[in-house]
Amino acid sequence: MKVFKFGGASVKDAEGVKNAAKIIESQLDDKLVVVVSAMGKTTNALEGLLRLHLGRNVEVFQQLEAIKSFHFGICNDLFENKKNPIFQELHNTFVEAEWQIEDEPIGTRGFEYDQLIGLGELLSTKILSAYLDMKEVENIWVDARDVVRTDNTYQAAKVDWDETGRLIQDKFSNLSERIAVTQGFIGSSSENFTTTLGREGSDFSAAIFASSLNAKEVVIWKDVEGMLNADPKHYESTVKLENISYKEAVELAYYGASVIHPKTVKPLENRQIPLFVKSFKDPAASGSLINKNSSRDGDVPSYIHKENQILVSFSSRDFDFIDERKLSEIFELFSIIGLSVNILQNSAISFTVVFDNDRSKIDELRKAVSEKYKVTYNERATLITIRHFTDQIINDLLKDRTVLLEQRTRSTARFVLAYDI
Ligand code: ASP
Ligand code: MG
Repeated sequence: MKVFKFGGASVKDAEGVKNAAKIIESQLDDKLVVVVSAMGKTTNALEGLLRLHLGRNVEVFQQLEAIKSFHFGICNDLFENKKNPIFQELHNTFVEAEWQIEDEPIGTRGFEYDQLIGLGELLSTKILSAYLDMKEVENIWVDARDVVRTDNTYQAAKVDWDETGRLIQDKFSNLSERIAVTQGFIGSSSENFTTTLGREGSDFSAAIFASSLNAKEVVIWKDVEGMLNADPKHYESTVKLENISYKEAVELAYYGASVIHPKTVKPLENRQIPLFVKSFKDPAASGSLINKNSSRDGDVPSYIHKENQILVSFSSRDFDFIDERKLSEIFELFSIIGLSVNILQNSAISFTVVFDNDRSKIDELRKAVSEKYKVTYNERATLITIRHFTDQIINDLLKDRTVLLEQRTRSTARFVLAYDI
């Protein structure tokens, strides 16, 4: 058994679907679970739809029309026979969303989000499955909500691993079809409401299926040749990481590398399932391999940029130490407000922390602490993490830059750089 995961970029149009089908078809010897994200930018479009729905804005119907015509357009390109059942199927799938947006929102924002946003994955998988049918590639469409059981923390649902493992094994062990097509990103609560696992959560879904089925391997198909050592947006020359360990992958994801969802690695590591990241544009190429081998982790330095950071410094107004109790109060606040710490440093009477710059959350924080602490900021900062650095790399990086904060361990150097004009 193998698990393939196709992201939104790989199925953003009819050509993408055809290409994904070709990759699936060429995988002949194993049973295959195919996990698919929403097509192209559909999830963002659905988030727009939700905003209009919650605001009771009549443009909500136009927005739904746009999402419909995008999907029907792809189907028109894929299926010459307009009597193909997929057209009716899509129609039915959209009806549920129509009902939801016609009515007043009934639950919290999170609840409404999860009931609406998972539509993207239902559509993409129905289209891919129908296309495979048309090509006479035997497959079955599986509703991930029947097998991925979660709690009801909407938008960030936590997986009930025991129940999910049981349900997935029950469902998949007796399938007569060699290929199953299912959705990433979604699951369902014990009350049978749709839940979502967090943005970009389809990689994690692939890991859930792989772990539950003890798969031989997982392949994440992407529009890049594999895991790169830097984001091509920031660096002219990038290198593919041939083989890194689970630990290295987790570290890179933690520091902000965006190639795989951070939660993906743990379930695979626990079962020692290798993960490949490969290019859907060049499926025969080797891609990157993530497994237990750590001997090549240091082969090339990796660079991770986080832009639009805010460095916040707290100093106590009465010259008191910022001790453990005070730190724990401050951290409690971060967690209530939903701010996650990207890096931090403290001294006797001051404490410095860097977040993604989310204005409203930062304002909330400032209000909550201003009585006890003097708070200063540096906005538009960049946090750069370098794994397996050399002195030369750091010298080059810091030339003409103002360093606001720096930390080094043996393998990792991190710098918060000011916005220098
Ligand atoms: N479609 C979802 C998103 O865009 C899940 C995913 O792509 O992994 O966040
Ligand atoms: Mg997506």
